[in-house]
Amino acid sequence: MTEEQWVNLPSEQVHVTDGITTLARVGPVRIRYRMRGATLSAFRIRTVPDPGDAAYTANERTRNRNYRLIVSTAQNGGVAEGRLLKTVKLPAAGGNVYALRALYRGHEVRSSITVESRRRLYYQVMHMAGMTAHSTANLEQAVWDPAKKFYVQLLRKPAGASEIPIHQSIQIDIDDHLVIEMALNDPAVFQLGPYGRFGFVLCFARYIVSSRDQTLTVSCPVSQPGRLFQRVPNGYELTLPAGTHLWYGMDDIDDAANSWLISVVGCAFTDADGTVSAITVNRDDLVVLPDHDFAHGGRRRIFLVLDDTRLPRAFFGATRGSLQLSLDLRLVDSWTNGYQWRNTVVIANRVVWEDMSAAVREYTLVHEIGHRLGMAASGTPSASMPAIAPQAPWAAAHTPDVHAQYYDQSWGGHAGGHCQNGANWDGTNWGGAPSCVMFGADGVGWVNADGSVTINQAPPQFCPLCEPQVRKADLSH
Ligand SMILES: [Zn+2]
Ligand SMILES: [Zn+2]
Repeated sequence: MTEEQWVNLPSEQVHVTDGITTLARVGPVRIRYRMRGATLSAFRIRTVPDPGDAAYTANERTRNRNYRLIVSTAQNGGVAEGRLLKTVKLPAAGGNVYALRALYRGHEVRSSITVESRRRLYYQVMHMAGMTAHSTANLEQAVWDPAKKFYVQLLRKPAGASEIPIHQSIQIDIDDHLVIEMALNDPAVFQLGPYGRFGFVLCFARYIVSSRDQTLTVSCPVSQPGRLFQRVPNGYELTLPAGTHLWYGMDDIDDAANSWLISVVGCAFTDADGTVSAITVNRDDLVVLPDHDFAHGGRRRIFLVLDDTRLPRAFFGATRGSLQLSLDLRLVDSWTNGYQWRNTVVIANRVVWEDMSAAVREYTLVHEIGHRLGMAASGTPSASMPAIAPQAPWAAAHTPDVHAQYYDQSWGGHAGGHCQNGANWDGTNWGGAPSCVMFGADGVGWVNADGSVTINQAPPQFCPLCEPQVRKADLSH
């Protein structure tokens, strides 16, 4: 008979739930014995691994106790029947099968029970007010996957989704993730307390985005009728370069404060003869125009309220020339699909002002949970991977051995341990076709010579180099 042994969990009653029916199946294997006499007897326990088991390298076993199979000499304390005080602690991997034997005075007794290792984590789904809590069914299947023997059971508790207040834009660059972590762990909504470090929150947010400050000069032509014509209140539409967008629509409080405009650096009018005159422009003279590049926003057009009496006038004929307006702006800098931080995983509903596609969302969910599982593993930097630093000390000590396609934020701006399998970094840009969900972005895109865009989407699966790491991951922390 084969029993599932939940190797990452401690032997605590709280885990005896949802398919686990006895404490004996949680944590180390505890062996029940029956002997003919009640004499004090010491005996050895032997485990027989299956040929299909995930094996740990010597480095891994040295580095992390949880990668070792620990069986101690056991004795019965002079009692004929009971449970051994000592236990068999199985290694961290999922899907490993062990037969159990007892050796006593040269006799081997075979247990009728074979154990097969499993791992479990608990998660609660939350969403910000107004945002959609999407299905996580594919995610659960991706990390259980019997064919690959991952056997990480993500157990959703409670079944529904909990709502937290909206935080319109999470800005990683100003440590918003700390604010979100507090909101998600608020006892009013957080229900995973009994599961301790084995529980994490998966929250669907609106935007995860960062800003930058930049001074830009934009210009527009001026063509005013001559002074003899009727004067009208006037203004000018100015457009930022393509791909440049104002920090507008990201947060209502920021919009009310016009925080997209840091300051007006200067404004000048250049007439048809090349004569330059300074024009005084105040913050209040500038308004964001409503047209936008994407479904939910992306504004880069500004209206400058400028009555033509403020322009130098030609005495006769039209006033012609151009305006140059220099502004210190707060711009939208970069977008993030999701992130994992401590016991929180946050996934954006929208990216670049569009609803995130189902394909990108699936990729992002598996990717961020991958980080929660310690991916991409970075244990034991090897001579073939000299550029591994900076390497998180926890990952160095606890994750499986690094593989040859590992990279970190020192290459290509992807924070954390990632896998570049199939992709390549030329020092400036990513190219190729990423073949792993642990690539640091949902795909690689570039503009071809003819102006067309090629996008190689990263798949929502772990690559063959990462698969053994997922299977071997230590989830007891
Ligand atoms: Zn990542
Ligand atoms: Zn990979």
